Amino acid sequence: MEQNLFVYNTLSRKKEQFEPLSAPHVGMYVCGPTVYSDVHLGNCRTFISFDLVFRYLTHIGYKVRYVRNVTDAGHLEGDAGDEGEDKIEKKAKLAQLEPMEIVQKYTVDFHDTMQVFNVLPPSIEPTATGHIIEQIELVKQILAAGFAYEVNGSIYFDVERYNKTHDYGILNRRNLEDLINNTRDLGGQDEKLGKLDFALWIKAKPEHLMKWPSPWSLGFPGWHLECSAMSNKYLGKQFDIHGGGIDLMPTHHTNEIAQNIASCNKIPANYWIHTNMLTVNGQKMSKSLGNSFLPQQLFTGNHSLLNKGYSPMTVRFFMLQAHYRSTLDFSNEAMEASEKGFKRLMNALALLDGLKASATSEVEVAILRQRCYDAMNDDFNSPVLIAELFEAARIVNSVKDGKLKIDAENLAILGQLMHDFVENVLGLKNEQAANNDLPKVLDMIVNLRNEAKSNKDYATSDKIRNGLQEIGFQLMDGKEGTNWSKI
Ligand code: AMP
Ligand code: ZN
Repeated sequence: MEQNLFVYNTLSRKKEQFEPLSAPHVGMYVCGPTVYSDVHLGNCRTFISFDLVFRYLTHIGYKVRYVRNVTDAGHLEGDAGDEGEDKIEKKAKLAQLEPMEIVQKYTVDFHDTMQVFNVLPPSIEPTATGHIIEQIELVKQILAAGFAYEVNGSIYFDVERYNKTHDYGILNRRNLEDLINNTRDLGGQDEKLGKLDFALWIKAKPEHLMKWPSPWSLGFPGWHLECSAMSNKYLGKQFDIHGGGIDLMPTHHTNEIAQNIASCNKIPANYWIHTNMLTVNGQKMSKSLGNSFLPQQLFTGNHSLLNKGYSPMTVRFFMLQAHYRSTLDFSNEAMEASEKGFKRLMNALALLDGLKASATSEVEVAILRQRCYDAMNDDFNSPVLIAELFEAARIVNSVKDGKLKIDAENLAILGQLMHDFVENVLGLKNEQAANNDLPKVLDMIVNLRNEAKSNKDYATSDKIRNGLQEIGFQLMDGKEGTNWSKI
């Protein structure tokens, strides 16, 4: 296992050596999507960035428990997510559907999109509605510790009271005075006592649909509460990494830390990792600004800002060519450059198998492999890694053209490093080959199944038939042999 991984920690504003609480285990919590509309490309960037982190930690030998939640209740519209209408209920009313139909539709969409981008599923994907009991328990603890108060059946976190004994701005580095001065005054109908206070439990208005009984009212939990409750449940009071987009840092994560410290006097995670935003003409891509594209629009090119469509792996490569802590501005030119770069890398990968080793070597690939690790160990620096992989691709092409000699040992290292870093760490796959080769692969599987059948090994032949059915292919036995089709 590589021991010299450095991670930029937003808490300290420094790169720190990564030392998990109990290696080889690593606990990582990342704030997931609010499932009220299609995920846009900006959201995808954040989840692709954490996929890179997850993949690299796994690659260097850690056993990662990766928890990424789905927010399916409690996320209201206001800046702090606790004022105005519930995002999911609002959409449900517009579409004349049950809130849970909205949740289901957009959760499925989210999973499909993640799969298209080759983002690995997390180890646990808990939902807010599945953890109401845990959230109520947490509210009780915060109340008992004296950091929250009740008004008309709703519970609010008392930020000023908390800040007397703790530092509310430990993560966002803002002092309370400044924060108070920069926050709008409480409205006449506001129940909160302090401008920065936020809701832990909200009493439901009669027309509110998603509500649960609690000691205080029929209501629903505040948005920040779910992440504290679920990270605590699955990763413990203290774990290694907490992540999310940088836009979540000033309020959502600040409030999460306050809740955890108020309830159990522990800052939940040691390393806080924040990903930067995907921008369009320098502006954050966001649904509310109307400058967001859906992944599908990018694939088809069906959007006024796009010259043409790009494949999912080109988009993933484009994202990984920027460091996760830099903003990344979308442009057609950058996408076209990424398309070329991605093809260059994939072509080199495809050429590897056909390379011939010489008795002597004019290159030492172990140094290059070390530079790949050095890049990733330096706060997951994927653009530097990609530059090293281009160097590997250059070597592949030179060997193929007979301009460079490589011996068997170096060739083996080269092959391994290309596969490890391109496929396992960056999560890139050759889309072309996957599509063209599918019929050949299926024919081969069908032949294996028929062989098993003619050997009267029905257990195996049935296993193959059922397995294919599960992934969406049906077999039809006829006089002329067996055909397959997509279900
Ligand atoms: P939401 O569903 O709005 O809660 O967002 C899900 C995740 O996407 C959060 O971690 C956000 O920080 C992140 N996010 C939202 N907009 C962008 C963007 N333009 N670029 C990168 N990440 C984003
Ligand atoms: Zn969260």
